[in-house]
Amino acid sequence: MFKRARLQLTAWYACVFTAILLVIGTLAYVTIRRDLDDEINASLEAAMSGVEQGLVQLDPRSPFFPFARERSDDEHDDDSDDHEPGDRQPPGLSSDVFYVTTLNGKVIANPRRVDLEGVDIETLEEGAADGEKYTDVSGEHHRFRILSQPGPEGMYVHVGRALDARDRQLRTLVMVLGVGGLAGLTLSTVGGFWLAGRTLSPIKRSLEMQRRFVSDASHELRTPIATVKANNELLLRHQGQTVEENLDQVEAIATEADHMARLVGDLLTLARADEGRLEIEKERLDLGEMVSELVRDVQPLAEARGVGLACEAAAALVDGDRARLRQLALVLVDNAVKYTPPGGKVTVRVRRAGRKVDLTVSDTGPGIAPEHHERIFERFYRVDTSRARRDGGTGLGLPIARWIAEVHGGQIHVDSAPGRGATFTVRLPGAP
Ligand code: ADP
Repeated sequence: MFKRARLQLTAWYACVFTAILLVIGTLAYVTIRRDLDDEINASLEAAMSGVEQGLVQLDPRSPFFPFARERSDDEHDDDSDDHEPGDRQPPGLSSDVFYVTTLNGKVIANPRRVDLEGVDIETLEEGAADGEKYTDVSGEHHRFRILSQPGPEGMYVHVGRALDARDRQLRTLVMVLGVGGLAGLTLSTVGGFWLAGRTLSPIKRSLEMQRRFVSDASHELRTPIATVKANNELLLRHQGQTVEENLDQVEAIATEADHMARLVGDLLTLARADEGRLEIEKERLDLGEMVSELVRDVQPLAEARGVGLACEAAAALVDGDRARLRQLALVLVDNAVKYTPPGGKVTVRVRRAGRKVDLTVSDTGPGIAPEHHERIFERFYRVDTSRARRDGGTGLGLPIARWIAEVHGGQIHVDSAPGRGATFTVRLPGAP
């Protein structure tokens, strides 16, 4: 499913990039072509007006009177004309613009000896007669843009410019845009694939976590439900008997119901926390005082288990949610009492450490091997599954404790080694 989503995202990236490239490429091409054409057209217009000015000087001796000169050249081949045909250009005619004069479809003056082979002169003359402006024509070897005008005596004057350079520039531009675009597209597709992977991986992780959470939760509920069912069936088989006679079954049902209630409560807390729907109502409170009270409440339970419970709590103000912080301390104290064998000792401390406040719960229990230190904060993780379940644990206490610590801007960590007890420390920001 994620593979397909990743490919789809990549395809979208590529499509969007191609569309952007096409728009930018087309804009660049159109603008540059227009600029080139404007420049060519302006040079042709300037040339034509230069030619016209040359024509008004109707002095046949003027080197700028093209028709007369060219014709007299033709008539007097041996005329010792000291002007080369190329020189007889009207003034201001730039070097890349040429002019020719034609009569009845034939070139009669071509001072720059431009290779007009294959150019349909008659069409040019017809166009000029119809008042057309620019015509792009192709010869055998070149393409030209030509501006034509009827001249005197049935002749036509044309100024033109080869389009080879312009065509070459446009071809190069298309090539650069094409190759650059293709390279950009390839890079963007590879980048898009990588980016899609990065974008999707947290979603994938959280979905997997969610799936595991649901499957673990169902698994956790299966055992108590099975126990309740089995004991219930036993009770139904002895309908004539009193509750006292079946006290074991009734108690087992009550214990499992308690366990399920705790489990469902913890599940709900975490599910709401995941959704960000769990409200934290902060107030200024003395963590030392709150923890002392809690230890007093847990004392009977510790005594019943034969575990010594001591509290060394200094006054330490924090800004936090009273109920949640009590829940956090209870998880740690409850675990310490639960996992410490009779005769052991649990010490709860609250003290200020600079601007922070530390809550530590130490016990003389079995301890936790380093490889479990991180994992015990994962949902449903237990070092000894059967023992933890027997003790009524849900495997959600420490994940909830970590969430509460973090939502208060604090951290929680464990320091322990097998056989040397465990110390859980919660470090919270102190109130100023
Ligand atoms: P549980 O409800 O099973 O206690 P927790 O999330 O509170 O779940 O704890 C996870 C696991 O961490 C426990 O199952 C236990 O194996 C281990 N653990 C927690 N506290 C202690 C402790 N004080 N001493 C030894 N092991 C502990």
